[in-house]
Amino acid sequence: MLDFSNFYQLIAKNRLQHWLITLPAQLANWEKEHAHGDFPKWQRVLNKLPDITTEHLELKDSVTIGNGQELSSGEQKKVESLLHHLEPWRKGPFFIHGIHIDTEWRSDWKWERLLPHISNLKGRYVLDVGCGSGYHMWRMRGEGAKFVVGIDPSSLFLMQFETVRHFANNDQNIHLLPLGIQQLPALECFDTVFSMGVLYHRRSPIDHLFQLKNQLTKGGELVLETLVVDGDENTVLVPAGRYGKMPNVWFLPSTAALKLWLEKTGFVDVKVVDVDVTSLEEQRATEWMKFDSLETFLDPHDRSRTVEGLPAPKRAVLVATNPD
Ligand code: SAH
Repeated sequence: MLDFSNFYQLIAKNRLQHWLITLPAQLANWEKEHAHGDFPKWQRVLNKLPDITTEHLELKDSVTIGNGQELSSGEQKKVESLLHHLEPWRKGPFFIHGIHIDTEWRSDWKWERLLPHISNLKGRYVLDVGCGSGYHMWRMRGEGAKFVVGIDPSSLFLMQFETVRHFANNDQNIHLLPLGIQQLPALECFDTVFSMGVLYHRRSPIDHLFQLKNQLTKGGELVLETLVVDGDENTVLVPAGRYGKMPNVWFLPSTAALKLWLEKTGFVDVKVVDVDVTSLEEQRATEWMKFDSLETFLDPHDRSRTVEGLPAPKRAVLVATNPD
């Protein structure tokens, strides 16, 4: 089983200390639920990875670990096959000892779009809500964030993250916990909170915004990325059934509505910093994610529509401040 005790020891000495009141019981419960099934199988994959430290850790412009010379070609093949056991790899790309994990998403493009608009992460405590495999968390470390915590309920993504961390010299300033946002108490201690690709999965988006706000320090910054539709501050699309074949999509507001929601929940300095229609190059099936992807979620005769006839995925990034 994964051992969270090291995380507890670390936060006992930093500003997340008060999380120790609720966290150990929640994670003990999670461990009990994951003692069977796929999780032990993934754990065995992780246990087979070679122990290797590297001086080549590039996190600023990509996530590149190793210079490609530190493993023999035989070892590299073995690691590549182990990594394939953790498919589907959705968020990336990762370059690990010469192995290119070509993920479904070019998550680096999202990062490049938002980075110019957010506060400098140097020295900051950062929370990434719905962090997936943790791709953006590595980029946050690359920008100098001091302590990065990601939460995501998916246990596969946790194992992908732990695999990358294993090769990244087991960095102890970056951690993924298998939790949903609704399980967090009001921690009020992160300088920056990211919520990207999560809001439309929440049945109660206004509560989601309050939950995010509760994690921030006074003066802290929220970076919110979600699916949007065109329209004014009263426009919200609630798909009757699926959206782009996804079953769990609830609210797709316009950027104006989203801005209003953020202001209504008490954020200030709310800015829409980017709006982007997702391209077929940014989200696609690859050798590491062999299921259907964006191409089959869109109407083949009209790419501006999903197969359900709804507007094709368009994503906005907003930044907002939790007032002093
Ligand atoms: N933030 C990443 C991943 C987005 S995908 C990015 O922008 O690329 C959405 C993620 O949210 C999934 O990994 C899913 O497991 C996670 N998620 C779903 N419900 C959640 C919840 N209640 N709390 C936190 N994360 C959740």
